[in-house]
Amino acid sequence: MQRRTFINRSSSAALALALAPTIFIQEEKEYGILELMGKEDIELFGKGINLRKEAHDAFIEMKKAAYKDGIDLKIVSSYRSYDRQEAIFERKFLQYTDDDGMNPTDAIDKIIEYSTIPGTSRHHWGTDIDVVDGYRKVEGDVLVPHKYEGDGPYVDFKKWMDENSETYGFYLVYTNEPKRRGFKYEPWHYSYAPLSIPMLEQYRSKNVASIIIREDYYGAEHFTMNFLKSYIQNNILDINRKLL
Ligand SMILES: [Zn+2]
Repeated sequence: MQRRTFINRSSSAALALALAPTIFIQEEKEYGILELMGKEDIELFGKGINLRKEAHDAFIEMKKAAYKDGIDLKIVSSYRSYDRQEAIFERKFLQYTDDDGMNPTDAIDKIIEYSTIPGTSRHHWGTDIDVVDGYRKVEGDVLVPHKYEGDGPYVDFKKWMDENSETYGFYLVYTNEPKRRGFKYEPWHYSYAPLSIPMLEQYRSKNVASIIIREDYYGAEHFTMNFLKSYIQNNILDINRKLL
């Protein structure tokens, strides 16, 4: 009985291994903390793509394949600098506190449903994209989950990505799992795993919170070390397990 269980388990594991796309992780490169926080200029490739070389090349291959199936992979957002993220954070913070009258802590909690604290965005790395189907003419905000389900305009796009993106190294980051904490489900946000897995590993080995706590922009004065630690645990590390 025990032996049979063992055989079943090992053969299904072998099958899973054979079917799973291989992620060729590039271990050797070292990234500095400022680079990982979007505070350094990095070399980016492709007009309207703006990714690191390997991620750019893989995206082009994926885009060609999607074209053949009638889908135009269109990047809405890719690399984002620290300064850009700071501007987004401040705008939302002032909107929620000044205009909507929320208290600062509630405003920050609302911001981090979808937006990151500057210095913690995966978009700082040049490996991550928000992507949609450019063939679809869509009214209003394109980065809303309901447009990717039911009879939404991006259902075919999502199905294609589910079936094909990992072959090109792109993995969904903020998956639709009820137990996952941190950022909400983002069916549009994909990460180029061969680069972003080692980058996350190096990122978490550095004391990013000690830098963020000393920053000076609207809202930053309300961060505490405890808040930042749980934010990093939930929002940075509770992601698609394949990307850890
Ligand atoms: Zn994104």
